[in-house]
Amino acid sequence: MLTEVVKIEEKNIDEKAGEELRKAGEIIKEGGLVAFPTETVYGLGGDALNPDSSKKIYAAKGRPSDNPLIVHVYRFEDVEKIVEDVPEAARKLAKAFWPGPLTMIMNKNDKVPYETTGGLDTVAIRMPNNEIALKLIEQSGGYIAAPSANTSGRPSPTLARYCIEDLTGKIEMIIDGGQVGIGLESTIVDLTSEVPMILRPGYITADMLKDVLGEISIDRTIIDSSSTQRPKAPGMKYRHYAPKGQLTIVQGSQDKVVEYINTMTKKAVLDGKRVGVIGTDSTRNLYDAEVVKSVGSRDDEKTIAHELFKVLREFDDENIDVMFSESFDENGIGQAIMNRLLKAAGHNVVTL
Ligand code: AMP
Ligand code: MG
Repeated sequence: MLTEVVKIEEKNIDEKAGEELRKAGEIIKEGGLVAFPTETVYGLGGDALNPDSSKKIYAAKGRPSDNPLIVHVYRFEDVEKIVEDVPEAARKLAKAFWPGPLTMIMNKNDKVPYETTGGLDTVAIRMPNNEIALKLIEQSGGYIAAPSANTSGRPSPTLARYCIEDLTGKIEMIIDGGQVGIGLESTIVDLTSEVPMILRPGYITADMLKDVLGEISIDRTIIDSSSTQRPKAPGMKYRHYAPKGQLTIVQGSQDKVVEYINTMTKKAVLDGKRVGVIGTDSTRNLYDAEVVKSVGSRDDEKTIAHELFKVLREFDDENIDVMFSESFDENGIGQAIMNRLLKAAGHNVVTL
């Protein structure tokens, strides 16, 4: 299949861009697939109400079919048409955070095929905060099922070039809208349990949800690195976000972390391995490894979130075999950062 790549600037959706988006919408309405930017990561979109489109999404990503997709809408009133009933909490959260990086789980009705929900009676829904995405959803009939636009298991794409790398020849179109704003996937909150529960941490933090809802719980399996229990979001059980090489997270005081990583680097180099290190602005010069990347200042968790997947992809681009990363505080978005980093490392953590 030929994959067309079109460039659209989010801040300048002119007539030509409008025409491209109409064309992209037609592709989706006809059962095809289009990768597009959102504010979190790039999504791989198909018609959420068409079971064949969802099957194609799983095939293009190589994603296990029990891992449900998120349905993207461009206006709140469309939620009512695909769920049994809209919980009060959903209205409050949408008012506070939509369009934005929050996905809500509700009981689905029979408009939503089981192919889209991985066989579940619930459906995950969100309204992305990106003009290209919103216009595309509108042009596509209102409901786009879109997981992250990467091959299953790899780091989510924050730039179109990583969609191009993973999906060329497998989908009809890729919309290049530049680098995404947030860089980590949406927070997922389950509204079907008595107390709403966070199933995946993200940019919208537990405290922000608590401010709106009063009460919030969190699926412990997603933050406890030693937990062997099955997470409630099916997708969280898979190895995920992973670079091709082996990643180890190193925890401890800065001096010890630097010393340990430099010792391990020496050993790996003697074994003929290429080594990469994820550090921060204040530590990057302390490492001896061939490739050292900073994800920004340790206190600036938004920048760390923004850079993390990009850095993991860059290590792949440079054929790095062994990687070490510093560990980060779990306050605020830090919880989402550590959740993704732990999964990328296959929970491989050294504590000094
Ligand atoms: P991705 O689209 O790659 O960001 O992954 C979507 C995530 O949403 C996966 O981890 C899914 O398991 C989760 N998810 C989607 N729908 C549901 C649902 N109905 N119940 C629980 N988790 C869901
Ligand atoms: Mg994903």
